[in-house]
Amino acid sequence: MALFTILRRFPTRNLSCNTILVAIDSKNLRSVSYIVATRKRCYAKPANDENFRNMTKAEWEERLTRQQFLVCREQCTEPPFSGQYNTHYDPGIYHCVCCGAELFSSKDKFNSGTGWPSFKAAFKSDKGQNVIERQDNSHGMLRIEVICRKCDSHLGHVFDDGPEPSGKRYCINSVALKFTLESQ
Ligand SMILES: [Zn+2]
Repeated sequence: MALFTILRRFPTRNLSCNTILVAIDSKNLRSVSYIVATRKRCYAKPANDENFRNMTKAEWEERLTRQQFLVCREQCTEPPFSGQYNTHYDPGIYHCVCCGAELFSSKDKFNSGTGWPSFKAAFKSDKGQNVIERQDNSHGMLRIEVICRKCDSHLGHVFDDGPEPSGKRYCINSVALKFTLESQ
C-alpha cells in the first residue's frame, strides 16, 4: 500500500468549502491531488470579496429572490421585455445584484430591441473592470457568457453585433443588476 504525505491543504476557489489535498505517493514517487468534499457551510455572511466567491448555493438561495437565484446562480435567462431595466436610461451605474460590484455605466447603454438591457462596453474603474467573459457551450450553442469577477454571478452573454466602435453587445438580465442613480 502506498504511503501518502500531505504537503498542503487549501480551500479551492470554485468548490465551496472543499479542500484539495496535495500528496506524495511514496510508492510511485509522484504527486497526486485529491478533492475532499466536506459539504459543510463555511460562511454565514460574506465579509469580503473572497467570501462572495466561496458562498454555497444554499446561502445564495437564502440571500436572493427566486428569480435572482435562478438567473444569477443557475444561468437561467429572464423573459425578454420583462426586466425593469430594459427601457431604463437614467444616468448612473448598474451594480451586481449579488455582491454590489460596479458592472455597467448608463453611458454605454443602448436600445438593442432585443428585450434585454444592452451595453456596448463594461464599466471600467481605476481598478479595472468587474465583468469577465467565459465560453458557454450550453443549449447546443457556442456563446460567450459574462459573469461578475467578484462573485461569479451569471449576468448574460456578449455578442459581436453591437454598435461601433466596440462592436460589442452585452446582453444582460435586468434581474442580475441593481441600479444607482448618478449623484448630482
Ligand atoms: Zn457580483
